[in-house]
Amino acid sequence: MYKYFFTLFIGIGLLAACQSEKGQDEQAKASQDTTFNTYKEAFVEELWATYPTWASYEGFHKYDSVLRVPDEATKKKEIAFSEKHLKQLAEFDIKQLSDNNQTDFYLIENQLKKTLWQLNDYKAYQWNPSNYNVSGTFAVMLINDYDALETRLENFHKRLQQVPAYYAAAKENIQNPTEIHTQLAIEQNLGGLSVFEIDLPDALAKSNLSEAQKEALQEDAEAAVAAINDYVAWLKALPMENPRSFRLGEALYEAKFNYNIQSGYSAEEIYQKAQAHKKAVHQKMITIADTLWGKYLPEQAKPKEPLAMVRQLIDKISLKHVAPDSFQLAIEAQIPELEKFIKEKDLLTLDPTKPLEVRREPDYMAGVAGASISAPGPYDKEGNTYYNVGSLAGWSPERAESYLREYNHYILQILNIHEAIPGHYTQLVYSNQSPSIIKAILGNGAMIEGWAVYTELMMLENGYGNNEPELWLMYYKWNLRSTCNTILDYAVHTQEMTKEEALDLLMNEAFQQKAEAEGKWRRVRLTSVQLTSYFTGYQEIYDFREEMKDQQGDDFNLKAFHEQFLGYGSAPVKYIKAMMTSALTEVE
Ligand code: ZN
Ligand code: ZN
Repeated sequence: MYKYFFTLFIGIGLLAACQSEKGQDEQAKASQDTTFNTYKEAFVEELWATYPTWASYEGFHKYDSVLRVPDEATKKKEIAFSEKHLKQLAEFDIKQLSDNNQTDFYLIENQLKKTLWQLNDYKAYQWNPSNYNVSGTFAVMLINDYDALETRLENFHKRLQQVPAYYAAAKENIQNPTEIHTQLAIEQNLGGLSVFEIDLPDALAKSNLSEAQKEALQEDAEAAVAAINDYVAWLKALPMENPRSFRLGEALYEAKFNYNIQSGYSAEEIYQKAQAHKKAVHQKMITIADTLWGKYLPEQAKPKEPLAMVRQLIDKISLKHVAPDSFQLAIEAQIPELEKFIKEKDLLTLDPTKPLEVRREPDYMAGVAGASISAPGPYDKEGNTYYNVGSLAGWSPERAESYLREYNHYILQILNIHEAIPGHYTQLVYSNQSPSIIKAILGNGAMIEGWAVYTELMMLENGYGNNEPELWLMYYKWNLRSTCNTILDYAVHTQEMTKEEALDLLMNEAFQQKAEAEGKWRRVRLTSVQLTSYFTGYQEIYDFREEMKDQQGDDFNLKAFHEQFLGYGSAPVKYIKAMMTSALTEVE
């Protein structure tokens, strides 16, 4: 008998005997939850007071006028905030909290510990000059129409006055930065100037501010622009004789992985799993390609090198794609197909009251991605969730062709599974059933991405696409992207992987185009750990499901597993797993 139902069974047997004890227990639980709910509200209030810029991004505009100067005093404030709340958390008895509050507890605790680690050990504030850039929030204040333009401009003005002090503190902080982050800081800060030089004058012209107010604002904007230009000049003049390496090194990498991914596996374990997975996927692709070769390339001799054969076949099959002007229609037409399949196979319940709204992507997103989900922020309760579908209108024929080969007939279906149903969109609908402000702010990215990646395989396993070998081959190619991203990230940051080795991995083993591989080489030097989140989440969910299957045998029900799993919201997989096997307290 497996653990989950075993616990339940015992519970029923002892119910009569422990009635009164259980009553007290329930009361203690309810009162802990009430106290914790109050605590959470206070925590969020204080979080925004401590991090006003973050608050503005999340749609909480009380602190729009405040730009924190990143000096020693601010650092002390952040440390004090984290230590205080870690103490407050320690006063709760985790076992007495509801499932939703238990996961919230762990998310808050992780955030606080991560902050202390970032300030005391990681120290990106010293080596990453691109951490300092003010233009983003200012742009949000001009573009987003959450308040009267005049109110937004008044806050803009107050915020603007702190810009020179902000960059002075930035210069104080920076010590031996990496070359690539210095370069990025120069590009991004120069790129942000248009907010003050173009967008601001436009907004001022439309506003009802007095001439005197407009002039004062303009003057402070000029001082801010001067401070940004001075920062850029200062960065350009840094000697860079022996710059810090962009590679994190193993110790920092493992720690960052633990805080950012919150996985039950270590980074090294995930790296090993990704390596093994890559090999297994290659074998499957070679087998499929072998059988499909005659159908697609009968005149051509099979290359001796198996992966070269796979590549040629992928290139050939990629030619099957929709016409540029029916890209949107093709995506829209697939949504009901996916829904129908999920119902037929009884894979999970889709809430019929929340149909997915497909829309053409808004102009400000144009050209970014083929399709994406946009969900309302934690403070935008009335907002809708949309499936944004890009249009290829205005693209050059070459650009459209290359894009459509990438998002060919097969990959397009996998993209829809990932982004919409039963991927991101479905996960979002489930997580909204147990709403949590904490998960809206601190939700676990690896769980969210992992679920979407898991559903791609799950749909195919259940026969979506009639087990067409072409679809499986393309699926594996798509899956190799997240797998090889994980290998790349770990190998670059902990093992000195060279550019040549990286390009070889991405182009010859993950079948990517040169431009994509080059872009990835840049991204992996600028970021760390984030590239592993997709594969890690996927692997954890998949392994957990297989474990449950083994334990439950014939009693395993895929639909029940999916629904229970999603019911915990965007919590780290290790905690969901622990709660589903009722052993949460043993996790830490
Ligand atoms: Zn074509
Ligand atoms: Zn995704």
